[in-house]
Amino acid sequence: MSDQYDVVIIGAGPGGYNAAIRAGQLGLKTAIIEKRDTKKLGGTCLNVGCIPSKALLHASQLYEIAEKDFEGIGINTGGLKLDLQQMQKQKDDAVEGLTKGVEFLMKKNKVDVFLGTGEILAPNRVLVSGSDGDREQELNTKNIVIATGSEVTPLPGVEIDEKQIVSSTGALDFANVPDHLVVIGGGVIGLELGSVWRRLGSKVTVVEFLDRILPTMDGEVSKQFQRILKKQGVDFKLSSKVTGAKTSERGVHLTVEPAADGDESVIDCNAVLVAIGRRPHTVGLGLETIGVKSDKRGFIETDHFKTSVPGVWAIGDCITGPMLAHKAEDDGVACIELIAGKAGHVNYDTVPSVVYTYPEVAAVGKSEEQLKDEGVEYKVGKFPFAANSRAKTNHETDGFVKVLADAKTDRVLGVHIVGVEAGELIAEAVSVMEFGGASEDIARTCHAHPTRSEAVRQAAMGVEGWTMQA
Ligand SMILES: Cc1cc2nc3c(=O)[nH]c(=O)nc-3n(C[C@H](O)[C@H](O)[C@H](O)COP(=O)(O)OP(=O)(O)OC[C@H]3O[C@@H](n4cnc5c(N)ncnc54)[C@H](O)[C@@H]3O)c2cc1C
Repeated sequence: MSDQYDVVIIGAGPGGYNAAIRAGQLGLKTAIIEKRDTKKLGGTCLNVGCIPSKALLHASQLYEIAEKDFEGIGINTGGLKLDLQQMQKQKDDAVEGLTKGVEFLMKKNKVDVFLGTGEILAPNRVLVSGSDGDREQELNTKNIVIATGSEVTPLPGVEIDEKQIVSSTGALDFANVPDHLVVIGGGVIGLELGSVWRRLGSKVTVVEFLDRILPTMDGEVSKQFQRILKKQGVDFKLSSKVTGAKTSERGVHLTVEPAADGDESVIDCNAVLVAIGRRPHTVGLGLETIGVKSDKRGFIETDHFKTSVPGVWAIGDCITGPMLAHKAEDDGVACIELIAGKAGHVNYDTVPSVVYTYPEVAAVGKSEEQLKDEGVEYKVGKFPFAANSRAKTNHETDGFVKVLADAKTDRVLGVHIVGVEAGELIAEAVSVMEFGGASEDIARTCHAHPTRSEAVRQAAMGVEGWTMQA
C-alpha cells in the first residue's frame, strides 16, 4: 500500500494531465495512471488524435500549395516530390516532443506517474496493474478522477484491421498513399484525414448516412463547406450506409445502400477509414463493482463531475458534452478546483469547435437551426472572405463569417466561420460570448488592417445592417 493521495487520476489525456497539473498547483498530493502500450502520456489527443492529425494536415497542405499555387505567385521549385516517410517522421517527432512535455509538466507539478492499467477497487482504492508483467500496486486516495477518454465506435460488418480497413489511428500511419480511400462518416475526423490523403494523391469518397456533412454544425456552413471540398475533388455519397466490406489482396469491396433503403451499390477501393464517431472508454475500470452509473450510451453520469459514488469524479470524453481536447482540459481544471473546495465551472455554451481542413471551419454557440428550434428571435450578420482585403491578397477567398445575435438584446449567440485560419479567428468570438458581449461590441472594436479578423468585425456590423466593405 502506498502513501495516501488526495487525488488519483486514471488516464493521462488532456482531461487527466491538465487535472493533474492543476491539482499539483493547488498543493494536492496527486497520482496519474496511464495504460498506453507506448508508455507515453497525452492520451488520444497527443498520441493518435489532435496532434498527429494536425502535423499531417499542415504538411500535406504545404505540399498541395507547393504543387498547385506556388507557380501562380511566382515561385518555381522544379520537380516536387513527396517523401511520405519523412512526413510521417516529422509527425512522430511532434508527438514525441509534446508527450515528453507532458512528462516534464508532471514532474514540475510533483505528480506521481504510474504506467499501467487502473482499476477502481473501492471509492478510495485504485489498483495499478503494471504494463510490463504482473506487478501490481494499490493506491489509497481521498478522490478518484476518471479520465479514461474514448475509443473508436466500430461499424458492424466493416471490421477494422488497421491495414486496409483502418480507424483514425491507422489512417495516421499509412506507409503508402492509397489510390482510392473511402471514408465512412462525414464528421470532423473523417473530413480532416480524408483531406490529408486527397492532398497527397488519393481519390477520396466520403460515405455519410445523413443528408449532410458535419451534422452538428450550422446548416449553411456545412453546405458551403461541402461545396468547397467537392471543388477540391472529394466525392460525397450522402444519405447512404455501408452495409458490408470484404478485403482481398486487390483491395476492399464495399457494399453501400441508400439510408432509407433501396438498391445496393458497390465501391471497390484500396483502403477504408471508419470514422463514424467515438464512444466512452470505461471497460475494465470496475465501475459496476463500486456502483458508478453510466447512461445507455456508456457515458458516465455526472453532476458537476461528481459521479453517483461520493469521492469518484469523471471528466472529458467519458462524460457527456463535446468530445474535444479543450473541453476535457476545462473539465479537468474545474473538477480539481471543486475537489479543492473552489468554485470550478465550465461554460459549455462557449466551447468552440474547429475542423482543421483547408479552409478551416470554426464555430461557437448556437447554429441557426438550434435558435429556430428553441424559438429564439435572432439577427444575422454575414461577411464573405471574397470581400476581405487580406484574404483577397493571399488568394484565399473561400468562405464567410456569420454572427448570430439576440434580436432584442444584441447579445452574441453564435459565430460560424468557414475560412483560412477560422480556428484562430473564433477565439475573439469565444471571448466576447464569455463576457456576455453584444455584436456591437465586436463591430465597434478596432481590428488591424489588413487581417482576416476584419471579416469578423464586418459580419458583426451586418447584424445592425451597417456592413461597410461589401
Ligand atoms: C484523429 C483524431 C483527431 C482529433 N483532433 C482533435 C482536435 O483537433 N481538437 C480537439 O479538441 N480534439 C480532437 N480530437 C478529440 C480529442 O483527442 C479528445 O477529445 C481528447 O483526447 C479527450 O481527452 P480525454 O482526456 O478525455 O481522453 P483521452 O485523450 O482519450 O485520454 C484517455 C487516456 O486514458 C487512458 N486509459 C483508459 N483507461 C485506462 C485505465 N483503466 N487505466 C489507465 N489508463 C487508462 C487511455 O490510454 C488514454 O491515454 C481528435 C480525436 C481523434 C481520434
